[in-house]
Amino acid sequence: MLVHLRHGLASAELDPLLALCKELGYSARFLDEGRRLLELSGCGDRTHRTRLEDHPDVVEVMDVGDSHELHVRSEEHEDTVVHVGAGAFGGGHVSIAAGPCSVEDYDRLLRLARGIQECGISILRGGAYKPRTSPYSFQGLGVVGLEMLAAVREETGIAVVTEVLDPRDVERVAEVADWVQIGTRSATNFPLLAEVGRAGKPVLLKRGFGATVREFQLSAEYVLNTGNDQVVLCERGVRGFDSTTRNLLDVGAVAYLAAATHLPIIVDPSHAAGRADLVLPLARAGLAAGADGLIVEVHDDPTNARSDGEQAISLGQLRELTLESKEIVMLDGRVLDIEFGPSATHTSNVKEPIQ
Ligand code: PEP
Ligand code: MN
Repeated sequence: MLVHLRHGLASAELDPLLALCKELGYSARFLDEGRRLLELSGCGDRTHRTRLEDHPDVVEVMDVGDSHELHVRSEEHEDTVVHVGAGAFGGGHVSIAAGPCSVEDYDRLLRLARGIQECGISILRGGAYKPRTSPYSFQGLGVVGLEMLAAVREETGIAVVTEVLDPRDVERVAEVADWVQIGTRSATNFPLLAEVGRAGKPVLLKRGFGATVREFQLSAEYVLNTGNDQVVLCERGVRGFDSTTRNLLDVGAVAYLAAATHLPIIVDPSHAAGRADLVLPLARAGLAAGADGLIVEVHDDPTNARSDGEQAISLGQLRELTLESKEIVMLDGRVLDIEFGPSATHTSNVKEPIQ
């Protein structure tokens, strides 16, 4: 590990820091005369990076050496492939989840699920618990919405991804969901991250709208640290200075994370764009940057949608997006898992070997 220290530290200040390094099991040597660059050789426990970063005399840890965190790509660690129903993300597999922002009524949800399956997509999104900016906006149907998702899942065999907001609801949501979503507003709700991790279902972790890439990685670490490695990261745009789009899709972060972590990363072009006309170009950009999939909002009557109608695309546009996505990922030898039609049978979340 390479540690950058504060300027002008006296021996009396350095001694306790060097003692800490020794206690952690490292041998230390300075690389410069000014004693600001400290090289540590030794054990490589993943808790040590933040232990040193928290030290008042440390400016930054410049090279983590062997003290890898759990999300970090390494030579020994193959790509993590996360299976959700008939879809898979990572390791060359690309999938799409689509559906309404909110679960609104059973008939619409069933209709949309069938339309989505006709596009070859096998994962339905839909929020039963909605994190709305205003407490006076539609908050989702809650338990009733979960029951609708369960019924549509049963009826069609489609897999379900839905958000959980409250640690007290995790068990209930995980009973219905094939994939449990943690939304942008909850990305630093650390007790929730851990509770969802412990539920043992695949996790969809969205980037906080104000989170740095490093903070996003550490949110993932909270889930991984529970022993659950079935985590899919999702870039959904961060808050920018321009309201032309709802958020600023950080394709640089997608490209970076595709290289820096073994976890799959997908893009949500709907919440990034905030407008239906830009969903397709942002989806293209995400896949071209290396995303392992997409999550897209779809509606058959966007004007009357209970939430996010302005960014919902139609089923016709979804079909176009799906076909284009297949072409884009083929360019770098990846496969879009869209061969499953309405007759797709329901599969469990058991981690399967790559075919
Ligand atoms: C959603 O998926 O409907 C949602 C609220 O997303 P985000 O957390 O990215 O805003
Ligand atoms: Mn939404």
